[in-house]
Amino acid sequence: MVIYYFEFQIICGEKLMEESLDLKFYKSLLIERKNNIQSNLSNLSKNINELQNLEVKDEGDLASVSSDSYTDNTIYSYQEEELEEIDIALSKLLEKPESYGICEMCGDDIGKARLEAKPFARYCRSCRDIVEQR
Ligand SMILES: [Zn+2]
Repeated sequence: MVIYYFEFQIICGEKLMEESLDLKFYKSLLIERKNNIQSNLSNLSKNINELQNLEVKDEGDLASVSSDSYTDNTIYSYQEEELEEIDIALSKLLEKPESYGICEMCGDDIGKARLEAKPFARYCRSCRDIVEQR
């Protein structure tokens, strides 16, 4: 029994070390992504302005221009949403670093792979599915 318990401790200790998150790494991911999005957004808003000018000038091409600017607007709002999520994650890292990487709904670990792909994730995969279905 004693030996088993000892082994159990070792396994848990290693697991904890392996699972602890490198917050600096995720912070740099978030900042990098934020910078990318901000430059994307400024490019996009430039494009949208150009397209809107174009719409006024060239009515013959209105249909295709409208669908283009519609797509740009969709990307624009999507990226703005992501930017907000990133800011939330960054302030979380600053104010409550212990809660970063923990699902806000069930309290489970979000998981490294998911955080690397989506460093601003607030929910684990299964909770995200539930949230998106609403
Ligand atoms: Zn969850």
